[in-house]
Amino acid sequence: MRSIAKNILLFFVLLFILGAVFSLYNQPVVKPKAMSIGELVQNIDEEKVKSIAIDSEKLEITLANDEKFTTVKEPEDSLTTILKNYNVDPLKIRKVAIEVKTAPGWLMLIQALLPFLIPFLIILGFFWFMSRQVQGMNNRAMSFGQSGAKEAEPKGGKDRVAFKDVAGAKEAKEELQEIVEFLKNPKKFTSLGAKIPKGVLLMGAPGTGKTLLARAVAGEADVPFFHISGSEFVEMFVGVGASRVRDLFRKAKKAAPCIIFIDEIDAVGRQRGAGLGGSHDEREQTLNQILVEMDGFEVGVNVIVMAATNRPDVLDPALLRPGRFDRRVVIDEPDIADREAILKVHAKNKPLAEEVDLRKVAERTPGFSGADLANLLNEAAILTARRNKKKIGFEECVESIEKVMLGPERRSHVISDKEKKITAYHEAGHALVAHELPHTDPVHKISIIARGRAGGYTLKLPIEDKHYHSKTELVENLAVMLAGQVVEKEVFGDITTGASNDLMQATKLARKLVTQYGMSDVVGPRTFGDKEEMIFLGREIREHRDYSEKAAEAIDQEVSKFLKKAYTTAKDIIKDKYSVLEEIVKKLMEKETLEKEEFEAIFKTAKPATT
Ligand code: ADP
Ligand code: MG
Ligand code: ZN
Repeated sequence: MRSIAKNILLFFVLLFILGAVFSLYNQPVVKPKAMSIGELVQNIDEEKVKSIAIDSEKLEITLANDEKFTTVKEPEDSLTTILKNYNVDPLKIRKVAIEVKTAPGWLMLIQALLPFLIPFLIILGFFWFMSRQVQGMNNRAMSFGQSGAKEAEPKGGKDRVAFKDVAGAKEAKEELQEIVEFLKNPKKFTSLGAKIPKGVLLMGAPGTGKTLLARAVAGEADVPFFHISGSEFVEMFVGVGASRVRDLFRKAKKAAPCIIFIDEIDAVGRQRGAGLGGSHDEREQTLNQILVEMDGFEVGVNVIVMAATNRPDVLDPALLRPGRFDRRVVIDEPDIADREAILKVHAKNKPLAEEVDLRKVAERTPGFSGADLANLLNEAAILTARRNKKKIGFEECVESIEKVMLGPERRSHVISDKEKKITAYHEAGHALVAHELPHTDPVHKISIIARGRAGGYTLKLPIEDKHYHSKTELVENLAVMLAGQVVEKEVFGDITTGASNDLMQATKLARKLVTQYGMSDVVGPRTFGDKEEMIFLGREIREHRDYSEKAAEAIDQEVSKFLKKAYTTAKDIIKDKYSVLEEIVKKLMEKETLEKEEFEAIFKTAKPATT
């Protein structure tokens, strides 16, 4: 903006100076008096005129006494014609020295052209100025090709992380320790003829600390860390991805030994030839360039490329070939001990109350990733601040678990008494069936306070971390999922839309039982559907059907059968324990949330079934 103003100013200053020069040139030194033609004629008659200088229509008259006058004649007629018309004696005219001044050629030209020239000049100036702007843009456009990789953490930066900042992930750290050694002391390995690995692929679910680990490797080895995200490569402009890769590697080679970290490499590294849309060619080129650069490292260049993905299954096999990302480090979801350790890391600069047992928090957070846990403690701190407390209590931690899991509570969400009652019955149904079936996770909490998108919720938590699920367990879970709807139907004789999410989840699970887990006796032990990656606008849009129409029908039938059976199971339990259900609903209407202990107490006091 400043340069625009400056340019305009400059332009006007120039114009002004030009004008000033011209007017100066035209200005006579002494300003002569005016004289009419008639007076001039009279003066000539009286022989008082010494000379007349003619400058087109302007006349400069010098009298005998050296006085100067000016007058203007009509431009068409010459002075002599005019004087003749006035009947001046030609003899007297002859005595006057008449001198016709012609303006210098170029001046005349400019004078003639100036009216046309000025707008032209303005337009020219405008274009010149525009072109400068565009050039600036071009310069920026040129820089698109640069990687934009920030050397986020140069050597010895103050916010570097080390392995001690990464809790858990023991195996991954051990594996990566080797990389640190390579970077620190390459000779030790090369002298034995060992090749230093070029690429390390970190694989793990989102939030498990892949980025953190990569940074920690750079921190431990004390080398520069170049960070770029796969999605940054894929820009709208074709050809940019590849040149960014080139630029990134060039920068890195200069800074070797160092680490290049390509986050979310699946954004570029998907299997080639699988995808729709324009960015597909671009991705391919970018990927090729990465491969070319990795192959092109000269021996002894100590640059290690680390990449992270949560979708190793979609990566192009070429990336995984020896000499590329042949080191693969899997980062598991944290188990209970890891979770406790991660919580400890993030609790370091937060004042926790004495009573807070992070082990207990870890117990309640199966399936949480490192990022979730960090988020949990942050939410707890915010909650504590809102309550004007000085220390984070266990209560805040527990509330934050639910918030992270299910979204914020919506206490202000007003529901009618009728809706509240329906919600209470619905959730009580889930809880009751979950309690009665032996293989499901115990109920931790029931609530009819709206949270996130759910009207109410029943929180079940496994006693220990689970990696596998048995068929019995899954089938029982189906019954728990459908229980809400069963109760609505049995008690109110009607179903609300509140059950639709349950229904969707149950259907999905039932379908998986049949098509993925081979748990249907009818269709047998095989999988159905070969999920091919077709990416369109970031979505998978196609599942390749590798089975017949007949099989599809059988699958549908089996899915329905699982669901119907689950429905019956739930219905039987609810009929059987109807009095307990009523008891749970009563308590829920009263207190809105029931903790595990309160919930279990109901079963001890409840009378045996009556209906
Ligand atoms: P990813 O790259 O795998 O998606 P990040 O490395 O970005 O996950 O992790 C996000 C955040 O979660 C980190 O900044 C860190 O605060 C926290 N975190 C994740 N895993 C751990 C861990 N093992 N130890 C400590 N903090 C962790
Ligand atoms: Mg990440
Ligand atoms: Zn439900």
